[in-house]
Amino acid sequence: MTKILAITNQKGGVGKTTTGVNLAASLAATKQRVLLVDLDPQGNATMGSGIDKRSLQVTVYHLLLGEAEIGNVRVRSTSGNYDVLPANRELAGAEIELVEIEHRETRLKVALAAVADDYDFILIDCPPALNLLTVNGLCAAHAVLIPMQCEYYALEGLSDLVQTIKKVRTHLNPQLEIEGLLRTMFDPRNTLAQQVSAQLQQHFGDKLYRTVIPRNVRLAEAPSHGLPALGLDQSSKGAQAYLALAGEMLNRAVAL
Ligand code: ATP
Ligand code: MG
Repeated sequence: MTKILAITNQKGGVGKTTTGVNLAASLAATKQRVLLVDLDPQGNATMGSGIDKRSLQVTVYHLLLGEAEIGNVRVRSTSGNYDVLPANRELAGAEIELVEIEHRETRLKVALAAVADDYDFILIDCPPALNLLTVNGLCAAHAVLIPMQCEYYALEGLSDLVQTIKKVRTHLNPQLEIEGLLRTMFDPRNTLAQQVSAQLQQHFGDKLYRTVIPRNVRLAEAPSHGLPALGLDQSSKGAQAYLALAGEMLNRAVAL
């Protein structure tokens, strides 16, 4: 069955897009069929997948507003071996235009239903906000993957996110689960990071991925080449960490 995951955290710069691109490439490297949905007007997941966001005729924006078919919007990331529903700044307008439209929260869910059978995993890269775009991501998903940095304010932001997930569950998507929490940009020498990490373990137990993503310069450099880290330097710690995460996810799925 297709697994649809929303990669979300309303906090900016925590590694959502890096996780989307590198997890997509890592799952693809293990022969999974993957679609990466860019739900952020910044279009970083699009660019990071080697697709020029400025050259696009149709994007997720047109899909959400019912102005394009999904088959015409999806493009192949040849650098990552997965498909992408790309986005650019036009998507910012959807926030406002969707308000007028019926079933505005479930536009993405309905659109994805047409192609779900083509994929083992659909990863949705959400913007850093709890807005209507993110709600579309949460309604379309079976579960959420939460990347986070182990710093002081991280836990506070997490409780807002958990509240939003509960609301979406009550009103729009009763089956929505928390798939897992992912520690990103982790520096084991940092005492505070270790403390926050221990607290996460206590609160979330098995929901916390054992795989930890270290701070790694290759992960930061790869987007400027339109590549996942796997394509830039397979032996880098960053690329290896995301391969390990893909392995952990696949093992978990088998264990269930
Ligand atoms: P936004 O909220 O703006 O969408 P985001 O949560 O998607 O941000 P990213 O864009 O993935 O976060 O990462 C923020 C910055 O940190 C980027 O410049 C990225 O290259 C860098 N980065 C992400 N993960 C790592 C890592 N593990 N090691 C080093 N740099 C990283
Ligand atoms: Mg992002």
